[in-house]
Amino acid sequence: MTNSQNHNLFAIFRRAISNADAPFLELPDGQVISYGGMLKRSAQFANALVSLGTKPGDRVAAQVEKTADALFLYLGCLRAGAVFLPLNMGYKDKELSYFITDAEPVLVVCVSTRQAALEQIVASNGLGRVETFEQEGAGTLIAMANRAATDFEDLHREEDDLAAILYTSGTTGRSKGAMLTHKNLSSNAQALVDCWQFTSADVWLHALPIFHTHGLFVATNTVLNSGGSMIFQNRFDVDDVLDALPRATCMMGVPTFYSRLLGSPRLTRDLVSHMRVFISGSAPLSPQTHKQFEQQTGHAILERYGMTETSMNTSNPFEGERRASTVGFALPDIDIRIADIESGDILAANEVGVIEIRGPNIFKGYWRMPEKTQQEFREDGFFISGDLGFIDERGYLSIVGRNKDLIISGGFNIYPAEVENALDAIKGISESAVIGVPHPDFGEGVTAVVVTEAESAPGVDDIRTTLERDLANYKLPKRVCFVGALPRNKMGKIQKNQLREQYQSAYQA
Ligand code: AMP
Repeated sequence: MTNSQNHNLFAIFRRAISNADAPFLELPDGQVISYGGMLKRSAQFANALVSLGTKPGDRVAAQVEKTADALFLYLGCLRAGAVFLPLNMGYKDKELSYFITDAEPVLVVCVSTRQAALEQIVASNGLGRVETFEQEGAGTLIAMANRAATDFEDLHREEDDLAAILYTSGTTGRSKGAMLTHKNLSSNAQALVDCWQFTSADVWLHALPIFHTHGLFVATNTVLNSGGSMIFQNRFDVDDVLDALPRATCMMGVPTFYSRLLGSPRLTRDLVSHMRVFISGSAPLSPQTHKQFEQQTGHAILERYGMTETSMNTSNPFEGERRASTVGFALPDIDIRIADIESGDILAANEVGVIEIRGPNIFKGYWRMPEKTQQEFREDGFFISGDLGFIDERGYLSIVGRNKDLIISGGFNIYPAEVENALDAIKGISESAVIGVPHPDFGEGVTAVVVTEAESAPGVDDIRTTLERDLANYKLPKRVCFVGALPRNKMGKIQKNQLREQYQSAYQA
């Protein structure tokens, strides 16, 4: 054991615990787990991992339901120095085979219905073992944890050691393993506690999944870093959230949480008058939702911007104007700039280019992809995010779309967000996605996929006439397609690659 400071993220969380009896988690059945309980249970998982031979730096993959124990498994990994690799429950065998072959975990934790398939994948790669983990508390790893000692000395970790590998959601390409260090995560947790003024008195409503950076790191790490507590819900359900809001002080969500809450007559000013803040991210929050939420509740949703590779980068101010359609300012110690996509030249205010980020939050690289990693960084250390945006004269950053979603039609660049915002503002349109698909004359044809409200659905001509008023001709959709719902992933992101595939022959004769 060395005498120098332990940079293990868990050792940092420990410093925020002032009272072992303070509540940490409130579960759906009403049970409350204290910080003391969290220390004991995470120690049991750390001990179970070590008894299975897990060593510092080893990957532990977990495809498990959202439960308190799943969170303690994550914390046990941190304590044991293992690299946590959470996997979406929705992944099928073929996807799992890719992640496991790529990451080579020493241990794969899963529900028993997946055990046989995973054992086969693990065996065919000559890897470690598979242990089970059930929502109701059964499973081989849980049994091992139940028998294990309730104390554990957190392993010493350096700032640069890996804490987790999170595979990117891959909405525009193949998933890549983003390597996140203890310092990446601790610096971001601290920046968010400072920025959003979190204290041990805060009670978070947690309805996000925990296989993704948003629910796992942005929400959980921030709570642990401030000593606050969480109302832990297994999934987002409008009525369950509304039932719990009177006991909460903050909520974090994806934009669909907010548009769904707005659909309930139970969401009133009185119900949420005591709330400190509502935060949104992971996908663009429409200015309509922002406005309607403020009108209905008196709260301006605080929108922020981040990604798997970087955790959080920018935030609208906690105090000060929270501007719709923007993601605010760079967090402390983080630099943001806008660069020309081709030349890399730094652009002036209001010019659209690629968003580049530098700071202690930026990941260490893509797992076993040194060349890909190198391509995504500038020589001065800025990470090329792949998101397009601009910074206005007041310093607020706006995102206009992913680089890969940019549409080039007849030689003109069209930023989907601009057309989507114009569509969403039309009465009777509830949501939209604008994509580019092959077009014989224009290269790509601007194509709008819209969802309308049954009572007041506008027709194609109404939509065209309205858009013509506000948008240059080259930005106008050449086709408007009506659908019942847009394909979204679990984080509420529209899966544009799926739409592009579906409509790829839209302009073929
Ligand atoms: P993920 O790695 O799954 O967290 O996805 C990150 C991507 O989500 C970013 O690169 C952005 O394209 C998008 N994103 C995150 N937050 C926002 C936001 N507030 N507004 C618009 N897009 C966002």
